[in-house]
Amino acid sequence: LFQFIYSVCLNKVCFPPAEWCYRKQNRDDSCKDPSRWAVQFPRCGGLRQSPINIITQKVQVERSLPLFDFFGHTETVNITVKNKGHSAHFILPQSVSLAGGGLSGHYRAAQFHFHWGGSGRPGSEHTIDGERFPMELHIVHIKEPYDSLAEAEHDTAGIALLAFLFEETADDHPHLDTIIAALGRVPNNGSSTVILDFRLRDIIPAARDLHSYYRYVGSMTTPGCEQAVAWTVFHTMLSISSQQLSAIVEQCRFWTGQPMRDLYRPTQPLDGRVVYSSKSATAQKRANHVWLGALSVLLCCCLKMLIKGLHKNFTVK
Ligand SMILES: [Zn+2]
Repeated sequence: LFQFIYSVCLNKVCFPPAEWCYRKQNRDDSCKDPSRWAVQFPRCGGLRQSPINIITQKVQVERSLPLFDFFGHTETVNITVKNKGHSAHFILPQSVSLAGGGLSGHYRAAQFHFHWGGSGRPGSEHTIDGERFPMELHIVHIKEPYDSLAEAEHDTAGIALLAFLFEETADDHPHLDTIIAALGRVPNNGSSTVILDFRLRDIIPAARDLHSYYRYVGSMTTPGCEQAVAWTVFHTMLSISSQQLSAIVEQCRFWTGQPMRDLYRPTQPLDGRVVYSSKSATAQKRANHVWLGALSVLLCCCLKMLIKGLHKNFTVK
């Protein structure tokens, strides 16, 4: 009998792990919010944690950081969406993968998910110069030949995480409605659905258009906070309208039954790490200004020619 009780206890029936959460969600306060994650998941208290605040003045420009090679992004696939209790995961097939981007080896995609805020509140995990953005997309890739996070966690670059920040725009993102509708079909912890004919390229740009990004070494942003992640935060932002944002925050519930909102971990100390950038953010801004300048000169010239033409027509008559 003792042996039976002991084995049952080993299977954590006697000591169920206290669940973690983003905010104090239970009335009895039994779930662990981010300030207490490290109590149960010691790695969450480590020195290479994510997300971080990226200070653009302090990033080290590393022009040798090359473009990525994306595979399977234009393929049409059916993907499963699962409400995992803390967020919703969009499971990607292994035919979606990446190489390059200054990473050694080949990485197979596992899933993507989003972090968002509440109605009118931003909810990205990474912040840039202290600014939090409306939403953040994470695409999780596991290095070959590892098959799971458990296998990859002993390699400091066992996981490649691609992050895209969203900016609020007047127009809808043309392909986010499929995502929003799918979230509406997985309202509760454990529920799942399928998206037919999904293409990752519809959500994110082609690799050739993603030359500017930040790179640093960090961790998963949920427990167990495994410190095995090569992070890529792209400078290019994805668009989302305010209507789409408010639809997203309405769709799902956490495992506690509370509305799934504000699902982001607070930023973590850099602890001496360096954030690299494939291009300087200020150079990028300057380039945009040059383009805008050239465009306005061109428009001015066209306008002048048009006025001249009209004037000629009138004087001939
Ligand atoms: Zn994430």
